[in-house]
Amino acid sequence: MRASRFFISTLKEAPSDAEIVSHQLMMRAGMIKRLGSGIYTYMPMGLKVIRKVEAIVREEMNNAAAIELLMPLVQPAELWQETGRWDKMGPELMRVKDRHGREFAIQPTSEEVITDVVRSEIKSYKQLPLNFYHIQTKFRDERRPRFGLMRGREFTMKDAYSFDRDLAGMQQSYKVMFDAYTRIFTRFGLKFRAVAADNGAIGGTGSHEFHVIASTGEDALVYCPDSDFAANMEAAEAVATGERPAASAALVKTSTPKAQKCEDVAALLKIDLKQTLKTLALTVEKDGGGKEYFMLLLRGDHELNEIKVGKVAGLANHRFSTEAEILEVYGCVPGYLGPIGTKAPVTVVADRTVALMADFVTGANEADYHYTGANWGRDVAEPAIVADLRNVVEGDPSPDGKGVLAIERGIEVGHVFQLGTAYSEAMKATFLDENGKAAPLQMGCYGIGVTRILGAAIEQNFDDKGIIWPASLAPFELVLCPMGYDRSELVKEATDKLYAEAQAAGVDVIVDDRGLRPGAMFADWELIGVPHRVVIGERGLKEGNLEYQGRRDTEATAVPVADTINFVK
Ligand code: ATP
Ligand code: MG
Ligand code: MG
Ligand code: MG
Repeated sequence: MRASRFFISTLKEAPSDAEIVSHQLMMRAGMIKRLGSGIYTYMPMGLKVIRKVEAIVREEMNNAAAIELLMPLVQPAELWQETGRWDKMGPELMRVKDRHGREFAIQPTSEEVITDVVRSEIKSYKQLPLNFYHIQTKFRDERRPRFGLMRGREFTMKDAYSFDRDLAGMQQSYKVMFDAYTRIFTRFGLKFRAVAADNGAIGGTGSHEFHVIASTGEDALVYCPDSDFAANMEAAEAVATGERPAASAALVKTSTPKAQKCEDVAALLKIDLKQTLKTLALTVEKDGGGKEYFMLLLRGDHELNEIKVGKVAGLANHRFSTEAEILEVYGCVPGYLGPIGTKAPVTVVADRTVALMADFVTGANEADYHYTGANWGRDVAEPAIVADLRNVVEGDPSPDGKGVLAIERGIEVGHVFQLGTAYSEAMKATFLDENGKAAPLQMGCYGIGVTRILGAAIEQNFDDKGIIWPASLAPFELVLCPMGYDRSELVKEATDKLYAEAQAAGVDVIVDDRGLRPGAMFADWELIGVPHRVVIGERGLKEGNLEYQGRRDTEATAVPVADTINFVK
C-alpha cells in the first residue's frame, strides 16, 4: 500500500465526548467516524484492523470444524415469538415494520434463525455434531452506548451455534470452542483471562467469559493465581452499589415437599441437580392481569431429596415492574420451554433458559407447598452464604481453598454458553436418535465481539503518542518512511526495493510517500500504532544502513539494508 493512495486522516485532539483512551485514540487515528449514538463508520484504517480480527477468528473457527454461513440481519418477528424472546428482550431489541405492517427484529444474536435452519435441515443423529457460525452486524439498542466501539449499538460479532445429540456431546463442543477462543485471543497478542460467568462463582460450569485485562475494564475479575478459580464478580459487586441484586448470594432451607417439585423443574430444565446451581427468574402472570417476577436459586446436593430452594439476598423486597427490567438486571437472554402445567401460565427465565412452570409456582404458593422464596416477606430465614465475593479483597482465601484471591479488571470480549435444549424445545428442533426416537438438539452458543476487540486491545496497549497494536492486529505491520522520496533517486530506489521485498515476504507494508516532514510523518504512525517503522535516508544508505524502530523502542537502531526484512519478521 502507498499512503498517497490510501486514506489517512489524523487529529491532534480527540472530540470531547470520547471519555476513554481507546475511543480517543481511534477517533484521533481516523479509524472510526461517529454517525449517531453508538453508530460508527469504520474508516479504511479501522476496517483494516477489523479485517485482521475477522481473519484470525475465521481461521480458528474453521480449524475447530465450525462451518461459516451468513444469516440475515432482519429477522421475522414470528421466529422471535416462538421462543418468547420477542416479548422478553425489551427495548434492547430493535424492531422494525415493513410496508405491509409486518414486524421484524434487527438481530442482536441469531439463536432463532439458526435453530430454524437446523430444524428443517437436520433429521438424524448421523448428521451431528454441527457448529455453524457467522460474522455479522448486530444491533442492540443499548441503554448507554458509549466508549466508541466498546459499547456500540451497531457492532460486529462472530456468533457460533453448536448442535449435539446429547449433553456429553454438547459439553465436548463447548470445550472445543473454549479451546478455540483461547487460541484466538493468544493470536491477538492480548493479555486475557477466561472466567466463570453467571453461576460460576458458586460452581456452575454453564458459561465462561473471555476478558481482555485492562485497568479501564467495566468488569471486576476475581481469581486465584494458584488454581483454576476465576469468576466475574460483577453481579455481586453491583449489589454493593445498589444497582444490581446479586445473582448468586444466598440459599435458605426449605421444608421437604418442595424437593419433589424441584426434581420436576430439574427434569424440565434438564439441569443435573447433583452438579449444578441454577438461578431462576420467574415471571408469574396473575389472574386479573399483570405480572410478578421472582428470582430463585435451585441447588442439588448429593441426594436429590436434599434439594434446597432459596431466594437471592437483597431481592426479597425487589419487585420488577417490567420483563425488560428483569432481563436488564440479570443480563438474561431467555430461551423457552413449552408449557407443562395446566394452571396459570408462568414463564421461567433461567440464564438463557425460559420455561413454563405453572404447576411448580402455583403449587409453591399452596398450603402444603409452603415455599421459601415464592412467598415474599413471609419466610425470613438466615441465609447460608455459599460464595459471597462481594466484599473480597486481594489476599482473601480462594473459595476452592487452593490459595488466595487476586482481583483485576477486564473487558468482556467473548462469551461461551451451554444452552441445552431451551431453544430446540421451544422451536421443536429435533433429530432422530439411533432408536428412531425424536429428541431435542443440545445447543451451545459462542460470541466474540469483533469490533469491541479494537477498543479492548487499545485499552491494554497505548502510550502518550498513541496506539501500540500487537503485530497480528495492526492495520499495517511495517511502515516505510523515506526521507525525500521525490527528491532522492537513491532513497526512492531503496524504498521501492524494500517495499517489494516486504510484500514478497508477506509483510503488510505501507510506504509513506505523502511527502510530509519527518516529525509529522512519525507522529501519524505512532498515533496509528504501526509496530515496525523503517526510515530510509540518504546518509544511512551511503553507509549501507536503514533506521529501524519498534513502536515500543525509545530509539532507532541502524540496520544493514540487507537484514531489514528479517529484522521486521
Ligand atoms: P456486555 O456485558 O458488555 O453488555 P453481553 O454479555 O451483553 O456484553 P453477549 O450477549 O455475551 O454480550 O455477546 C457476545 C459478545 O459481543 C460480548 O462478549 C462482547 O464482546 C460483544 N458485545 C456485546 N454487546 C456489545 C456492544 N454493545 N458493543 C460491542 N460489542 C458488544
Ligand atoms: Mg449486554
Ligand atoms: Mg456480559
Ligand atoms: Mg456476555
